[in-house]
Amino acid sequence: MLWAVSQLKDHVVFAWTSKGDLWHVLSPVAVVPPWGEYYPRLCTREQFEKLVLVDVLLEQTQGGLALASNSYGYGGHFSHSLRLGAGNPISFTASVSPECEFVRWEFYASGEETPFLTADTQFVDMHWTQAKNTVARVVTRPKDEYKLRLETEVADPGTPGDDCPGYVVVEDAKTIGAISYHGPKRYYPKDGWVRLRPVANPGYRFVKWDAKTAVQAAVLGPLGTRTEEDLRGLKKENVAVCMQGETAIAAVFEPMLIVIDPGHGGSDPGAVKHGYKEKDFALDLGKRVRNKLGELSNGAAMVMLTRSTDVDIALEPRSNLARDNRASVFLSIHFNGGRLSPEEMLILVRKQDSAGTIESEKRQVNYGQDQTFAEEVLSECWSAYKKASQDIYGKPPGANGGVKYSETAVLSDKILGTYADDGTLSCDISAALIEVNEMGNDEFIDKWCGDAGDPLIPRIQFRDEVAEGIAGAILRYIGLDCAMSAPTE
Ligand SMILES: [Zn+2]
Repeated sequence: MLWAVSQLKDHVVFAWTSKGDLWHVLSPVAVVPPWGEYYPRLCTREQFEKLVLVDVLLEQTQGGLALASNSYGYGGHFSHSLRLGAGNPISFTASVSPECEFVRWEFYASGEETPFLTADTQFVDMHWTQAKNTVARVVTRPKDEYKLRLETEVADPGTPGDDCPGYVVVEDAKTIGAISYHGPKRYYPKDGWVRLRPVANPGYRFVKWDAKTAVQAAVLGPLGTRTEEDLRGLKKENVAVCMQGETAIAAVFEPMLIVIDPGHGGSDPGAVKHGYKEKDFALDLGKRVRNKLGELSNGAAMVMLTRSTDVDIALEPRSNLARDNRASVFLSIHFNGGRLSPEEMLILVRKQDSAGTIESEKRQVNYGQDQTFAEEVLSECWSAYKKASQDIYGKPPGANGGVKYSETAVLSDKILGTYADDGTLSCDISAALIEVNEMGNDEFIDKWCGDAGDPLIPRIQFRDEVAEGIAGAILRYIGLDCAMSAPTE
């Protein structure tokens, strides 16, 4: 800063530094150094010589700035002594940071413990004789804030050791971006809206919000729409809550359940070729898939089999088992009965028509997610099958038949889904049925069972590799693949 005072005779440029030192210069040109906090003033030499200094000690309790000024000086500091010119009123200004609010000014005579003056306005003018040698203190306090206590819970049936099923991301107007937040509490402004979003850890999914008492919440929709509801029981992931008091909120998560359905069983053998029964193949592979799911996820995957023995079980109870336990995925395992050549493997997903009597607006089923799930399972199972065919039997298989739509009853929305009171059918299970191969395909039968007298070891290796393909795809689909160990081969 350059001050040109050559036009003025007998003038002084002076200022107090932030430490209260007086700096002055009598010169045609005064250069004011840019460091420090200088508030330069100009006066005549006569005035400067008569200048009487007033000491003021500025203090603040927290979160603000105590300022004082008069025509001879200006300064604002935390616990700094200022020297202001006498002969002019001294103005005190409290400048408060956004997270605090101003309470009052307190003015103390030197050495006194009781203020001689308090003022509940942020601006106070005082005669310099009164302000001389005072301690001027700005009292502030944090703005009214409420505590938000966030917890996570695991819904029934949880698995032992479920202590970190997920967390809640907290966003509010004062925060740019998101804060990932696991901790138990945080302060938010009174009447402020705080946005919450649950994030499930791998292998879990968000179920609903919960709280001990009513919590005013807004469900945030696309394009900024919002509807206000009580938070308790809300299943929407994007919500905001109003901080009207201390609030304890829980995000409820549940483990993602995998239901594997070995087809047929008991008096229903399924396809029978060369004396081999489909029900036995399906049960054997189903159990191998279950074991691989456990192995690959280091025990994190929750798996249920619709049957683990050779028993009769109708289609409906199989699907209902998945529905009633809120399964995330349902995979039915079959082996085809008719010659499919050259398609040696295919996977079925349900057709929207499988609940044809339901009006489309009363159906909340994500058929796209079935397609994704089926494609992943088919792709990995087929790769495993191809690799095993090549590695173990030295010959690649033909082609697979891809994903096909089917009205097969075990995938029906009507028995996999649930009906609300208004008749709305919803289903968020990803469901598919895999036809692993074809019972009439001699080459396949040889791989799976071999001729009598053949050593069984290559067959077991072959079956396990196919099972591993299916299990790997399922774990990847539900996000548990991060728990998978590195391939050992
Ligand atoms: Zn079958």
